[in-house]
Amino acid sequence: MATEEGGEREALRVLVCQIKTNLAARGRSGLLGVSLKTSSATQPVEGGGPPRGAEGLKILREEIGDCQRCKLAGGRTHIVYGVGNPDADLVFVGEAPGADEDARGEPFVGKAGQLLTKMIEAMGYERGDVYICNVLKCRPPGNRNPEPDEVASCEPFLKRQLGALRPRMIVALGKFAVQCLLRDDAPISRLRGNFRSYEGIPLMPTFHPAYLLRDPSKKKPAWDDLKAVNAALAQVGITPPNPPAA
Ligand code: URA
Repeated sequence: MATEEGGEREALRVLVCQIKTNLAARGRSGLLGVSLKTSSATQPVEGGGPPRGAEGLKILREEIGDCQRCKLAGGRTHIVYGVGNPDADLVFVGEAPGADEDARGEPFVGKAGQLLTKMIEAMGYERGDVYICNVLKCRPPGNRNPEPDEVASCEPFLKRQLGALRPRMIVALGKFAVQCLLRDDAPISRLRGNFRSYEGIPLMPTFHPAYLLRDPSKKKPAWDDLKAVNAALAQVGITPPNPPAA
């Protein structure tokens, strides 16, 4: 066990060093914020601590219950908790459910979701290989932007969800996910493409698929971001089941 834990820590340290080296070689400085230490989220639990993986996610979902903590509760059909592999290496975080997601209770199933699915598949994964969730778990009316009090109510659950998942990489989709996880309100066009750190976990900010539907010219840079994610994961031996042709 101790050896496994040491191995994981070493692998993450190597990942960070190698990504830094790669980005430096490409004249980018995106990983400057990533700590070389593992985070509490990525460290194995010693002597207790909240359960992780499927069990941790289940307990958290039970705690959320029939949530009435913010004003979105009244307008929702379903709480949209998250979907995918509870042991995923790769987690995608979006903004909030839309009408389709609210109706189905599953994130990213509408038009933007179908594009996200294509992006995930282009990386060489199936949806079920990764985990997908949002900052908000209930739909804002009329698909308006999340409001600060709603983010404040829901954010602790996202953070605990990420703590239960302990992914090796997070892809933050669009400005709300990035602002929430990084506390950085710089434009997404400036933040995207540069690795950052969320509690020691490498995080890639990129464009939201809904934005890509509105401006298809941004699909190329978004794909570059996802390729950088694949490359970084490959450095620690994490490769998708169906790797894309080089
Ligand atoms: N947009 C999001 O940010 N999340 C979803 O689940 C669907 C659309």
